[in-house]
Amino acid sequence: MSEKVNITGLTAEELKAFVGSLGEPPYRARQIIAGARGRRLGSFAAMTDLSREFRTKLIQHAVVTTLVLESRYLSSDGTRRYLFKTHDKLPVETVFIPDERRDTICFSSQSGCPLQCTFCLTAQLGLLRNLTAGEIVEQVIFALNDAYGEAVKTPRGTNLVGMGAGEPFLNFDALIKAIRIMAEPNGLHIVPNRVTISTAGVVPRIRELATIPDRPHLAVSLAAPTDELRNELMPINKKWPLKELLSACKDFEKSLKPKERFTFEYVMLAGVNDSDKQANQLARLLNSHTLRAKVNLIPHNPAEPLPYHPSSPERVETFRQILESKGILAFVRRPRGRDILAACGQLAARGTPEESRLVLISA
Ligand code: SF4
Repeated sequence: MSEKVNITGLTAEELKAFVGSLGEPPYRARQIIAGARGRRLGSFAAMTDLSREFRTKLIQHAVVTTLVLESRYLSSDGTRRYLFKTHDKLPVETVFIPDERRDTICFSSQSGCPLQCTFCLTAQLGLLRNLTAGEIVEQVIFALNDAYGEAVKTPRGTNLVGMGAGEPFLNFDALIKAIRIMAEPNGLHIVPNRVTISTAGVVPRIRELATIPDRPHLAVSLAAPTDELRNELMPINKKWPLKELLSACKDFEKSLKPKERFTFEYVMLAGVNDSDKQANQLARLLNSHTLRAKVNLIPHNPAEPLPYHPSSPERVETFRQILESKGILAFVRRPRGRDILAACGQLAARGTPEESRLVLISA
């Protein structure tokens, strides 16, 4: 990449310092934020309320976007998946999930992922690199513009989930910075209360997140009710086994607001982790820590060549009922965007197997 500064990754304070280094007064930073984030304009040239001289100076020293859209896929259920390339040609994937009540953007925190969850295709890429705060924010701006149009106010607040490629807590500083940038007034104004970050269980960061005053919500991917099975499905469990993970969750609970719960994600793999016995084990595990939590059951999304199959809807429902009968709040998550490989565990920078039948718009 050129040495130009990516202003999308700068906080308001950093932007003030940057415009100062160009010999400009601090209010210029506010103008840039209003254009690049408030109106989500993708270039300095489009910010016509800035003087021509200032725009020329900015174009010489900075950029607003660095990700390049490679492909855009549209699912039959309206979900959209975007495959970008970074300046160093690495894949970044983002998913937009429309919903009658509130749309959701699922962003990636890393290109690839270093963790080796056996039910997830992203794992096969390995870690390519951490994304910068700017690259995280850019994904959100792009998805908002694609859904609603550049400079158009979002029709209703959009939710964000950090559940795309990568383990967000292994890129903690950039993640938290991106969340701060997105919350700044006059910018995107997406408050942390509308953001949920999902972790495979990086215990020290769960505790650290709890100390951040204006923090996002937390989701923890469990996938198994015992260490034995979790070691197999999510090898991170060998480093931070269930006891340590749940004790960190218990500590995190102290930071919950009155009506807030945190979420356990449980991917349902047919014949692997979906028996009645395992539902009872899971209920016992969670009840033994008396956690104020809910469980989202996620039927596995087919992801060849992985050797798993989704649990049947009946099995998922029985599992849910067992949890509920033991006092655990449990929901079944409807899979979205499976046909374009946009669903959980399917992000692996690939084209779809049925591309010709889908709306594929190459950048
Ligand atoms: S499930 Fe999440 S943490 Fe696990 S390999 Fe996939 S992207 Fe990484």
